[in-house]
Amino acid sequence: MSAILDRLEEWRDYQPGEWVARCPAHDDSKPSLWINLKTSGMVGLACRAGCRFEDIVAGIGLLPRHLFNVDAEGLVAVAEARPEPVSPFLTAGLRVWLDSLPAGDDAAPALSYAQKRFGLPSAEQDRLGLRWWPGPQPCPEWVPTSFVRYPRLVVPMADFAGVARGAQGRDLSGRCPVRWISLANPAGFEWQRYGVFPGPDPAAPWVVAEGLSDPLAIVADGYSAVGVRGAALLNKDPVTLDALAAGLAGRDVRVCGDNDRSGRAFAQTILAALHQRGVPARRLTLPAGFKDYAVWRSTR
Ligand SMILES: [Zn+2]
Repeated sequence: MSAILDRLEEWRDYQPGEWVARCPAHDDSKPSLWINLKTSGMVGLACRAGCRFEDIVAGIGLLPRHLFNVDAEGLVAVAEARPEPVSPFLTAGLRVWLDSLPAGDDAAPALSYAQKRFGLPSAEQDRLGLRWWPGPQPCPEWVPTSFVRYPRLVVPMADFAGVARGAQGRDLSGRCPVRWISLANPAGFEWQRYGVFPGPDPAAPWVVAEGLSDPLAIVADGYSAVGVRGAALLNKDPVTLDALAAGLAGRDVRVCGDNDRSGRAFAQTILAALHQRGVPARRLTLPAGFKDYAVWRSTR
């Protein structure tokens, strides 16, 4: 089967495991079709103009059964070369941009949100370098338009040495259709897919979780955390898995996926990858009925 994305016009990366393209089912002047690849191998399609699923599938020239058991190669052209980790030049550019954003008392709208939503005290927010994106203003070209439009809590994604190699912004307005938005990957490069969030106590366990909400809630509970984005493509990403294993070696590691099917697949992938690389780790299972760690914490 030829790559599904190659059948669509103007497709581009949105974030790992998610793409946008022109919708084939209506006269689409800008990319309105959202495509995502679930851990189960199912391709999700949603048109923001409200086209019916059947019409979109037909517009691509496929049958619904073609959207099951798809792997990343089936979705993206095989020939596409894997991007390099961001260069020192881009890492420096990211640092300059992050430092230009309001922090501490000047970032009250973002930081009071982080306090309320994740229970993160201001000392921890400072240590993790959280910032405020106040809304539209000039910015580097790798900050996507959809990021720029709304005010956000900006969370730097550091490596195990503490160097920020990526970031995500959490919508504060409630009006952005996507709550967390990553930086756009510059041509040929890829921002880091994980963020390291050391907690207040160096001896406390490390918890690996999906996305960035849970890690912030985990640090608020006194642990250290690693947040991984784009969980669906982890199996195809030995670079990230190697980095996680190297950084977590010798630590007391727990893995906590969301309380659903893809969350369990995420935990399984991480645990297997760590074990394979000689790093012992255990699963942290959330009590039934709680979607993820952040939700669980907010009810305690
Ligand atoms: Zn449409």
